[in-house]
Amino acid sequence: PDSVTIAGLAIADITGAAAIAKVEHALSTRAPLKLGFVNAHCVNIARRDAAYRRALADFLLLPDGIGVDLGAKILRGEPFCENLNGTDFVPRLAAQLATPRRIALLGAAPGIAERAAAALSVLAPQHAIVAIGDGYFGEAGRPKVLATLASERPDIVLVAMGVPAQERFIADHLDTQHGTVFIAVGALFDFLAG
Ligand code: UDP
Repeated sequence: PDSVTIAGLAIADITGAAAIAKVEHALSTRAPLKLGFVNAHCVNIARRDAAYRRALADFLLLPDGIGVDLGAKILRGEPFCENLNGTDFVPRLAAQLATPRRIALLGAAPGIAERAAAALSVLAPQHAIVAIGDGYFGEAGRPKVLATLASERPDIVLVAMGVPAQERFIADHLDTQHGTVFIAVGALFDFLAG
């Protein structure tokens, strides 16, 4: 099968190269694609949070870590073909996308998205990479964030607000006026910012 369902989440059993090809295809056809990573912590949240499960229903979910690998082994006797966490996958994706794209970063503490954008620009200089703002804007700040995204018109939006807030935000508030590919990236910005 090309996915394994754990706690109601259908996790894709695809290689990183195949996942990158899916992103390329979404970008070139302008077909919206939501991407997320599922680790053991996410599985625990999914067990008790129906809104999180619903938010993820139309995400392409990639397997992150030994917890879900063990789940796949138990459920079908085989681990996932590749471990794909956001911290490794997103820089790899950005570096491999040959066509210059507009990439927006939203989330983490104030100042971090800017530093992460600068670091990502070094790894993938072909793209126009812009920091939208931090991940603590709240309901009051949301209209401004959405307006900024709509005016920046990014191809890819990276959202780093922790699980499940980042997935809920993508599912509930982002659509084609804000970007084409939406990726929930967890602690990526902190990692890139050093
Ligand atoms: N974060 C955020 N807004 C929030 C909560 C968290 O922007 O309301 C950011 C946090 O600063 C970090 C990232 O989300 O950069 C991932 O947070 P954490 O590691 O706590 O979440 P996890 O992915 O482990 O659930």
